[in-house]
Amino acid sequence: MEPNQQEKQFGYSSGRYSNTGAGPTMQFVDIGHKDYVALIDPDTAFWSLLKKDKIADALDGSSALMQEFHKKRDSFVQEINNLRFGLKPSAVYFNPTERCNLNCSYCYIPDDMRRSGVQMTEDQLISALSILKEFFNKTLPEGRLPQIIFHGSEPMLARDAVFAGIKKFKDDFLFGVQTNGTLLDEESISFLTSEGIGIGLSLDGHEAAIANSTRKNWNGEGFFGKVTSVLEKLKGYPNYNLICTVTMQNMANLSNIVDFMHELEVPIGMLNPVRCTRQGAREIKPMDNELWPYYSAALDRTHDLYKKTGRKLVIANFANVLVSVVAPSARRLMCDISPCGGGRCFFAVGAKGDLFPCSEFVGVPGFNGGNLFNGDIAQILETDAFKTVTGRKVENIQPCSSCAVRHFCGSPCPAEAFEINGAMNHPGAFCELYEEQVRYALRLIADGKENDYLWDGWDDNVSTSVEITSL
Ligand code: SF4
Ligand code: SF4
Repeated sequence: MEPNQQEKQFGYSSGRYSNTGAGPTMQFVDIGHKDYVALIDPDTAFWSLLKKDKIADALDGSSALMQEFHKKRDSFVQEINNLRFGLKPSAVYFNPTERCNLNCSYCYIPDDMRRSGVQMTEDQLISALSILKEFFNKTLPEGRLPQIIFHGSEPMLARDAVFAGIKKFKDDFLFGVQTNGTLLDEESISFLTSEGIGIGLSLDGHEAAIANSTRKNWNGEGFFGKVTSVLEKLKGYPNYNLICTVTMQNMANLSNIVDFMHELEVPIGMLNPVRCTRQGAREIKPMDNELWPYYSAALDRTHDLYKKTGRKLVIANFANVLVSVVAPSARRLMCDISPCGGGRCFFAVGAKGDLFPCSEFVGVPGFNGGNLFNGDIAQILETDAFKTVTGRKVENIQPCSSCAVRHFCGSPCPAEAFEINGAMNHPGAFCELYEEQVRYALRLIADGKENDYLWDGWDDNVSTSVEITSL
């Protein structure tokens, strides 16, 4: 930030040079490209790709790049600060039941809740949605619809209540359902697709042996065939996605899984590294350096398939990292930003009406901020249960505070950091995977391929702040 008059006269330097005085700290990053390195101002997430033989020219304070950057730096600071601290909740992960018919190896909801927890009645669910509607009417700009994502445990166990809620409030919210897919029959699919509801499914493999090794019911039976048949039925529906949770069990098959998704015409896939909040997940967490060769090969594979068929399979979690580099404000998922979106851009509602910063905290003692049936949502968002999460910043975490890619990664996830280390000021579980993803993203940009990995229309309403091509 530009120093004020008093600071100029008695304190800081003018900030005109990089890396000294009050100037920005610019970090060079080797991105593994034959011609280019990256120059990044980590505080603003400003970056530039430099030809390796032009590094010295770029740091020259009088270069076009530095001149332009110094001119725009305050606006970059404002943009990143707004994204990090200026957003209001506009979405809710709504858990209508604590129960689940599955017992996946890495689930973050405690077993006893999933086996025999509480479930909302239709009246309770309708009443909770009315309260949320009233809250968002007061907090969101007119005309902006908040999102409700029915989430798990398994929301389709409360199907009648969920569908009644969707019918009653279809003009008030944008609805989505995140489901394991095992309970979706013809009637449910037809209802959800005819209402245009977003559908998120989960499947961890391209064949039964792999998929069923992590996702199975309490008797150990898997549902690869059932979920695949749902995916077949959804072919051509534009508003669904498939999450593959990446573990030691499936990492060697990620490229096959990409083929499988593409063949089924899945529009958006996710290859989400397993969240290590609970012991079962930690036992199947791959080592980052062992995972990355498979992971990058799977990303390469999406590109090969696109070039061969003209049809994209966007891997949304990677695309989000890529877009956070290309246009920070255009990102859609809010895990890779610090503070993350939990409790800030969205919050979670449990089946008793309790509010948590994110579904990841539903089973973690100390993160229940209060109950929406007998408390005030605005006040609940200000409780310590929420502030502990919304106040977690990369600046207070080692080694993130000195990491050049900290605003492309965000050091997720607070729930993971807390559960593994008992405190928030630690990185989450996949630091090196993030480093690699950002390098991969910058290589794509250097080669002009970034659009091939992003969803169509990602750059609507996005403008270019600095365009210097001479270096
Ligand atoms: S988790 Fe790793 S890659 Fe992410 S900000 Fe921290 S140090 Fe950087
Ligand atoms: S980083 Fe973790 S706590 Fe934050 S939004 Fe993502 S899953 Fe939730």
